[in-house]
Amino acid sequence: MAHKLTTCTFCGVGCGLYLETAENRVVGVYPSMSHPTNAGRICVRGWNVHEVASSPDRLRSPLLRKNGQFQEVSWEEALVFIATRFREIRARFGPDAFAFFNAPRCSNEETYLLQKLARAVIGTNNVDHGTGVYCNNSINVLLDMIGVPATTNSLGELARSEVIIVDGVDLARQLPTVGGCVIRAKLNGAKLVVIATRRHRVAESADLFLQLKPGTEILLYGAMAKVIVDRGLMNLPFIRARCRGYEEFLERVRDFDLLFAAEGCGVPAEMIEAAALAYARARSAALLYSTGMEARDAESIQALVNLALLTGHLGKEGAGLFALNEQNNLQGVCDMGMLPDRLPGYRPVASPAARAAVESVWKRPLPETPGLAARALLTNQGQGKVKAYWLCRYDPVSTAFFGDAADSLQQADLVVIQHLFMTGTAQYAHVILPTTAFGEERVSFTSTERRIQLAEQVIEPPPGPLPAWEQLTRLARALGADWTYQSAGDVMDEIGRVVPFYSGAGYDNLAREYGRQWPCTNDRPLGTRILFSEDLSERPFKFVPVPRPAQAAAAPKDYPLTLVFGHSLYYWHQNVLIKHSETLKREYRILLLDYPDGFVEINSDDARQLGVRDGAKIRLRAPSGSAVSTARVTPEVRRGTIYVPYFVREVERQIVGSAEDGNQPVHVRVEKEAA
Ligand code: SF4
Repeated sequence: MAHKLTTCTFCGVGCGLYLETAENRVVGVYPSMSHPTNAGRICVRGWNVHEVASSPDRLRSPLLRKNGQFQEVSWEEALVFIATRFREIRARFGPDAFAFFNAPRCSNEETYLLQKLARAVIGTNNVDHGTGVYCNNSINVLLDMIGVPATTNSLGELARSEVIIVDGVDLARQLPTVGGCVIRAKLNGAKLVVIATRRHRVAESADLFLQLKPGTEILLYGAMAKVIVDRGLMNLPFIRARCRGYEEFLERVRDFDLLFAAEGCGVPAEMIEAAALAYARARSAALLYSTGMEARDAESIQALVNLALLTGHLGKEGAGLFALNEQNNLQGVCDMGMLPDRLPGYRPVASPAARAAVESVWKRPLPETPGLAARALLTNQGQGKVKAYWLCRYDPVSTAFFGDAADSLQQADLVVIQHLFMTGTAQYAHVILPTTAFGEERVSFTSTERRIQLAEQVIEPPPGPLPAWEQLTRLARALGADWTYQSAGDVMDEIGRVVPFYSGAGYDNLAREYGRQWPCTNDRPLGTRILFSEDLSERPFKFVPVPRPAQAAAAPKDYPLTLVFGHSLYYWHQNVLIKHSETLKREYRILLLDYPDGFVEINSDDARQLGVRDGAKIRLRAPSGSAVSTARVTPEVRRGTIYVPYFVREVERQIVGSAEDGNQPVHVRVEKEAA
């Protein structure tokens, strides 16, 4: 038997684990004891995610739709067909009739080549990753305020934090080994503050649990900042030496009255004050928030970054901002430029100097206008604009949290999908290209702590599927490009020439340790554990004054409950890896034995008042529509809210999808339905 160190590619933590193999099968898994992030621990997904490779549902051959039916064809036929259709569509409609989207679980190499194909071969900036606008708010705010769009410190340092604030992210469900780090830090004496609408498992261990009303984070963080200012706990030496915009920020902070905020957030003033004092007085305090679906608008992230600047909790061990990505390579796909307005390395598309830097490597002129994002093109606004979609491991029909992507795909002249499996989206495809699975290729991913790591090849793929990077290379060559990559390592070498903070991340270096945290440069090949620990920032950090929001209007009398959306342990985000791993499917579906049609969660007191029993059929009625589901009665959700796991598409389609503004709170009432 052989065993090899690799990286779990399920979630953004990127735990180190060993895969044991025999006769071209994975026969064992065990965690790396010395990996700096997971240190001997992995979760149920890490133990079983390799099962995906041996799923009998794997696609084995390229499929081409002929006379309405998919037929197996050779790679050559599939690629010639795509290249021919690409040429026709480009000649007739121009480059912006194309859109290239991928999932935030694609490798760095396939992502880099996909956006290069779009920009340098086709000539469009219509590229995006499936997480879209929510994560981009975090990127844009961090770039603007601290100059780096990523987590500033390392997860292993949480053991040395005096105070940890966890905002909005259900760690136990989404990033389990991080949840374990936080709980162990708490047991070792750290003070734990949890801010969330839902009483999740980590909240149960909190010293302070601020169970706020949905969408009131700006008020909460503004009030915390005012407490810190009023008590004189600002870190003035840090502010004077490293920040700008402090005076303007102070002006705004004065508006955040503590009692007003307490009423608006539904959190006692003493708790807000205690959280603020704990954060400000700690020698090292870490602030963790989600960049994903639960993340709020840009202003709430600005309010949170202001707090870190006000207290100087940046650039030192055990402190920092943790912009947590649930998807395993959300950081990497953004680093690689899978953004309609940013080239690799976050260079703005609209900047001539930025384009020139990339053009000097690619030797091709680049389109100057920012592209359109997945959300815009796959919803009604996008209908008819795009004639050809390329979707790499992306299944928007099953997973996108907006409208119904099927409408846009149905109207396209060409839909190409790269995937392991027939997905909900595949029924709208003209061509499906089967990809290799975890363990069958050597590629890299970048974790939520900026750690660029190799996922190793431990078995040979079955005959048929090819690595996605190789498919893209062959297509680019069929379209006349001079791409010569022989391996994913060759692609990474080019990434190092285009993305300055990956310049030292060649495969030899990544393989030497447990990957490297960027910036990993030729001058700094061991990577960077803590950002800003030396005064490396070329420009000062920037406070952004955030206006105090008006007190949110109370829910209308007829619709007194507010919908809150989030992940569920059970069928985690319709995740394709869970669907195709026998063990995970069973683990994640256990609760669904009691609620076979899915469920929404309602607070026990609200349920008692409404006369709703656990397991009862209920109708959620909003002004925009209604949907039927099953009630799961639990004290975990806040009174006045209904928690809707993302997999309950019915509620999204019938109520949210037709609501006028997707960012506004959605209010509903509960009606009992006959069983
Ligand atoms: S926490 Fe994430 S990376 Fe670690 S084993 Fe679990 S799924 Fe894999």
